[in-house]
Amino acid sequence: MKKTMKGLMVTGLTLAIISSSSLLMAADAQKKQVKKPASKNLIVLIGDGMGPAQVSAARLYSKTALGKPKLTLDSYYVGQATTFADKGEDGDKIVSGAITDSASAGTAFATGNKTYNAAISISNADVSKPYASVIEAAEMNGKSTGLVTTARITHATPAVFASHVRSRDNESAIASQYLESGVDVLFGGGEQFFLSKDEKGKRSDKSIVSDFMAKGYKVVKDGSSLNALTAKNQKAIGFFGSSHVAYVPDRAENVPNLANMTKKALEILSADKDGFAIMIEGGRIDHASHANDFPTTIQETLDFDAAVKVAMEFAKKDGNTSVVITADHETGGLSLSRDNIYELNMELWGKQKHSSEFLITALKEAKTIEDIKKIVNENTWITDLSDEEAQQILDGDGSSYAREGGYNAVISKRLLIGWSGHGHSGVDVGVWAYGPIANQVKGQIDNTQIAFASAKVIGVDLKKATATLQAKHLYPKFKINRDGVVLYPAEALSKALGGTYQAGTAVTIMTKANKSVEIDMASLAVKANGNTASYKADLDNGKLYLPLEAFNSLTGTAMKWDSLSERIVLK
Ligand SMILES: [Zn+2]
Repeated sequence: MKKTMKGLMVTGLTLAIISSSSLLMAADAQKKQVKKPASKNLIVLIGDGMGPAQVSAARLYSKTALGKPKLTLDSYYVGQATTFADKGEDGDKIVSGAITDSASAGTAFATGNKTYNAAISISNADVSKPYASVIEAAEMNGKSTGLVTTARITHATPAVFASHVRSRDNESAIASQYLESGVDVLFGGGEQFFLSKDEKGKRSDKSIVSDFMAKGYKVVKDGSSLNALTAKNQKAIGFFGSSHVAYVPDRAENVPNLANMTKKALEILSADKDGFAIMIEGGRIDHASHANDFPTTIQETLDFDAAVKVAMEFAKKDGNTSVVITADHETGGLSLSRDNIYELNMELWGKQKHSSEFLITALKEAKTIEDIKKIVNENTWITDLSDEEAQQILDGDGSSYAREGGYNAVISKRLLIGWSGHGHSGVDVGVWAYGPIANQVKGQIDNTQIAFASAKVIGVDLKKATATLQAKHLYPKFKINRDGVVLYPAEALSKALGGTYQAGTAVTIMTKANKSVEIDMASLAVKANGNTASYKADLDNGKLYLPLEAFNSLTGTAMKWDSLSERIVLK
């Protein structure tokens, strides 16, 4: 959001010269008309983990329990998208990328690039480069921007739109990068990554909430203070949970739902005459599906659909907004069928009081079959839990979900639905759209097309925005030696910096223009531009590593290491 007095003054001046150069103005206006983007505003909605079966389940429930045979989504269906990621490391293994995570899927539909799982909008390389998202490109074009989610605001899906890190787990860095991003509205959970450990947060450096306030952000923490925000609050940050926002069935009265957050965000952002771009995520469809908690999966999907309704009503009234909706991937391998039975117990799908997550402590503390029967009886319709079922819960399901997994396995069987596991699956996801963007995302597409269409429809340039970011930062793999010095892979970094790398058995030489760094492979002593350096190289598994000093000698620059975001600051 850029609103300056300068802008107003130019308008005054333009008015003054209108009569003397009307011909020129007309030609100008014509030029502008040709270039005018199809939409002024962009709304991207993501149902995290919302595969085809999650959508069908929500619709079936809506029809049988709520008497509404259609979801809001249904009227806007345009096609489906592939979700695969690029190959990458998963522990000791290299995985193909056939099954994506939220970080790589998000990077694809936010920036138009495939990358490895866990990467937040950076390339798949030993020395990664940042990719700009449509939100960042919109911000650079003077539009207002927002991120809204029911997950932690620092979670992968919002993160890919306004931050860059090698690992999605670096949520403290993601929170700090939001401060630099210029994103005007941030609503979700995840306050813990904005607070220091002293303040019951997760940051080991310092609390950063006051830094946001200093930049003009109004901070809100519940539904009533959210509602009290007005369009005059151009910047706002809402924390509705220390971690994720509570699941729908567990939500306290003063915790806003996704539709409330969406409504307020749109009210604030739409006050900018230059337009806006926003991403709104139903972040916990994924979490409920990971846990195999089917009733909560349905409630979270309906919570998302209610936000879709708010977005669509806004877009229709506004007349200058494109809306695109998709999922990052399916979660759980949900199947609306099981055990060869041609039936679904739909009348029972709404009869669980709280989520399985809500029961974790009680389930952990349970000692006997009777304890389990009591917990299940209090939370569900089940009055006849068998000893065998109770034992299954006590034993846990063998996954990290333990007894919660056992509980959900029992419930799922009673509901006649199935799961392939606790992970993501590779099935295509739906795409829904409204406005000029709809034509560009219809049919069978790849998720990267969402980013290209998003940028095109509001007339922002992803390549240009990416070049701006790549001139600032590099995201290398690195290691830290016993003295606490950060070391970088010599070959990959010298090449990423535009140098050459000649590996030799006696001497390895890196050069750039008239600069050179030589490494004696026997002693690992370093000569930088002819002078013996005070540091040595490091050899790890045949790979040569050097501190940043060596690369500063190579480039003749003063690059710095940003240890929080684990990136090299180029200038
Ligand atoms: Zn997930």
